[in-house]
Amino acid sequence: MDKQQEFVLRTLEERDIRFVRLWFTDVLGFLKSVAVAPAELEQAFDEGIGFDGSAIEGFARVYESDMIAKPDPVTFQILPWRAEAPGTARMFCDILMPDGSPSFADPRYVLKRALAKSSDLGFTFYTHPEIEFFLLKDKPVDGSRPTPADSSGYFDHTPQNVGMDFRRQAITMLESMGISVEFSHHEGAPGQQEIDLRYADALSTADNIMTFRLVMKQVALEQGVQATFMPKPFSEHPGSGMHTHLSLFEGDRNAFYESGAEYQLSKVGRSFIAGLLKHAAEISAVTNQWVNSYKRIWGGSERTAGAGGEAPSYICWGHNNRSALIRVPMYKPGKIGSARVEVRSLDSGCNPYLAYAVLLAAGLKGIEEGYELPPGADDDVWALRDAERRAMGIEPLPQNLGEAIALMERSELVAETLGEHVYDFFLRNKKQEWEEYRSEVTAFELRKNLPVL
Ligand code: GLU
Ligand code: MG
Ligand code: MG
Repeated sequence: MDKQQEFVLRTLEERDIRFVRLWFTDVLGFLKSVAVAPAELEQAFDEGIGFDGSAIEGFARVYESDMIAKPDPVTFQILPWRAEAPGTARMFCDILMPDGSPSFADPRYVLKRALAKSSDLGFTFYTHPEIEFFLLKDKPVDGSRPTPADSSGYFDHTPQNVGMDFRRQAITMLESMGISVEFSHHEGAPGQQEIDLRYADALSTADNIMTFRLVMKQVALEQGVQATFMPKPFSEHPGSGMHTHLSLFEGDRNAFYESGAEYQLSKVGRSFIAGLLKHAAEISAVTNQWVNSYKRIWGGSERTAGAGGEAPSYICWGHNNRSALIRVPMYKPGKIGSARVEVRSLDSGCNPYLAYAVLLAAGLKGIEEGYELPPGADDDVWALRDAERRAMGIEPLPQNLGEAIALMERSELVAETLGEHVYDFFLRNKKQEWEEYRSEVTAFELRKNLPVL
């Protein structure tokens, strides 16, 4: 038994922890949990805990439903809302096949495999997410419109603001679980919040995002409101993005940084961005996986320019350009991870393990193949006319989930990165969602057509 495992067992005793939840994530990014008694844990560390995976999205195969969850002791944390004795703790798990090999349906494994490839090339991958979400008074399930929990706006600081108390309590809870928060504020729409997590290696970040979503929902309930990570709950307000800053390190050197280069961006950094751009459309179904995701990144037409509320719609990059898919923020000397790129497409409803895996794979492809970075866009690309964008070679992101699926179906990069099993399951599941959506007669059609036709 290693030191970390011993630490877990000792803590269980000292803190009178009676339940240990083993956490993992399904292919769509939903958190799953199985609770075990502390007495089972020693065996769980050795062999894992068997469970029936047949009802878990993406795990079921007709001929194999027995799965093993093996806890990762490094991820041990006591749940602050269940901290009083007898308490409850959690660990993330790796999912194994009955023969002990990694399960190809485990999103955590998909990311680990992508990270292993990156480390073969000498790189460590760091990410820093800016997570946006809504606080709502209610979460109606009949398709009617929810009500935001407050009526504040961007950076507002008012005494009667649910968001402020909420953020204070939420951040305290995150920090007590070892998740550092860098920045938080009220976002642009009523009820909309943003909390940014500190840089960490991508696997820790993805684990942290899963914890984050649960903590936000928990704190919201305690305050009599509801949290949602739905990408675009309101037609007339901006959606919830999960912009993520990415960087590669070689040892403790930031591989994106080169002193004196344009924007202090090294050749590695430039090729990485070129890879993200070239593969942006085919990875969209993963970074923006819901029908609703495309309501957020639709930039509007010439008539309604910027309708997306600062979400990117076009495949281009820019220095400090918020209308671009990829933004290269100002370099801040002395700040770790400062030479970085911000990808703005991801939304808060994505599976962070899969999304980070495909982003990393796209960027590494750019480095391996030595892609050339096209010129950056200085303009506000939302405000340009279609013809102007076309002349600049700027393509839109997929317009809807159907388009994104069709592109993913032709993508070798996504197939390779997700692995055959997750790739097939994901496509099948998303096609079904798209078909269900297409076949539905919506409130829009009834409103528009019924009175006049
Ligand atoms: N809410 C916007 C989005 O959907 C982002 C606003 C911002 O720049 O932080 O991406
Ligand atoms: Mg924001
Ligand atoms: Mg941002």
